[in-house]
Amino acid sequence: MRAQHLDTGLYWRPLGGNNIDQISGHSFQYTYIDTTATGYKADTIIVDLGKFDNHQALGIKNSAAAVPDIRELLQSSEFKAKAIFLTHSHPDHLNGIVHYLKAGFKLPPLVGGRYTRLILQELYQTFGVLPAQQPPFVVVTEGNVMQCGALTIEVLPASHTCFDSFGFYISCPNGVGVYHTGDMKLDDSTYFRRPTDQKRLQKLASQIDFVVADFCGICAEGFAVREADTFKTLSAAISERRRKIFVPVYPTHTEMYLVAFLAALKCRRNVIFYGDDNFYGYLSIIKEYGIDFSKLARDRIKVSIGIPEDLSGFGSDYVIVGTYNDIGGNFAADASNACGIITSGSYFNPLRGQFNIRGIPFVDVKDFPVLQGCGHGFIGDYERLNRILAQPKFIPMHCPLYVIDSCRALAQYIGLKIAEPTARNNHLYRLDKDGMVEVSAHPAVWLVVSYVNDEAVFTEVWQRPTSGHGFLKRTFSARRCRRMFRIMLYRRRQKEKQNARD
Ligand SMILES: [Zn+2]
Repeated sequence: MRAQHLDTGLYWRPLGGNNIDQISGHSFQYTYIDTTATGYKADTIIVDLGKFDNHQALGIKNSAAAVPDIRELLQSSEFKAKAIFLTHSHPDHLNGIVHYLKAGFKLPPLVGGRYTRLILQELYQTFGVLPAQQPPFVVVTEGNVMQCGALTIEVLPASHTCFDSFGFYISCPNGVGVYHTGDMKLDDSTYFRRPTDQKRLQKLASQIDFVVADFCGICAEGFAVREADTFKTLSAAISERRRKIFVPVYPTHTEMYLVAFLAALKCRRNVIFYGDDNFYGYLSIIKEYGIDFSKLARDRIKVSIGIPEDLSGFGSDYVIVGTYNDIGGNFAADASNACGIITSGSYFNPLRGQFNIRGIPFVDVKDFPVLQGCGHGFIGDYERLNRILAQPKFIPMHCPLYVIDSCRALAQYIGLKIAEPTARNNHLYRLDKDGMVEVSAHPAVWLVVSYVNDEAVFTEVWQRPTSGHGFLKRTFSARRCRRMFRIMLYRRRQKEKQNARD
């Protein structure tokens, strides 16, 4: 790719975020090219640098991860990125950074939230990334505006499942504006975090031409679960039970630590946080971030991180929030004195086994889907966003390609403009006021990471379908996805007919 052959304009390229059939390893390039009679100037930023979870499926022995190929944006004189903007701290948006550093690459300054920085520092420690190898980190918060050459980036809050989740409003001199949502739903009931700012978005509406949108939850009807509803359901489930109540939470979704704690507090049940190292790691970061559970409890309940020395002081009907793999001996839990409220459908299958072995009764997300907090907008969220932003063009990301292709009929019916063509990893697009133009198409690769003597080594592997292989065996199938969109469309048509009759 040569900048001098490109017209003035804003260019966008997904590097890992528009994968064939599995999601992960998000990273996106934004470049503004200004061509004049005497030359040209290119300004590039990257948004996110995640890792691809299902790296085993790419077939390299002893692989530790796979990352999107951003090497050109680190080394080329024309497209060298000025910064990497981080939407949030989840591994599929953040963890590529450490592998690039361990492979000896120098990264541009990182821009992200305070919580994201804390998580990254933890990663630096785990991987042994020395301070001299760490790129500068610019801490930003909602409302901050940054200038990277010709690109202006405003930080917007996003309702998601961890602290400091952001979206970005990216604008440039030719007047094209993009709202990069990050992982996001519209829910305005988030605890201790600023929700997606619908008022600000409304103000920006006339300047937003494209929404690079998190379509992870788009196959579901209605609105994404509200945190307040998860809290209400969990509180009710706790208050109905007088036993030791085990509440497993998904480790990286730290908002559920809080929701579970607040629900127990509302029911005046003592709380024990009990889990694996990963869980305690997140807990201490939350604390460092400024959430103090003892302070929140104010003498109303007892709180313990880990099993307290004197468990008897906790009575017989406390709540255990965590990611334990063994619920046995420590709590003397059995069918007569314990129960489970499982807040994550997939993560805790092994625990179901634990519960089963001891005959401990439990409810889970199959009984109460609301229990599983959700950080991604459903179709309803996007219908509302479409109204707020006065029908911009949506460029879906964070979903397999078949999701984008199979939602077009429904999208058209509800007036959601999905940009053509379906964006693919490593294809470059110019974003013009009136649409998206594909300007180049190169096959995408993943860089599979293996560690040799504490150094990361990259192996290039062509991107290919990975469903059914490697670690992530269960994925949402293309057939099921098509079916769900067809049902949604059918229901809407029926409703319209019904309304016409009434
Ligand atoms: Zn996320």
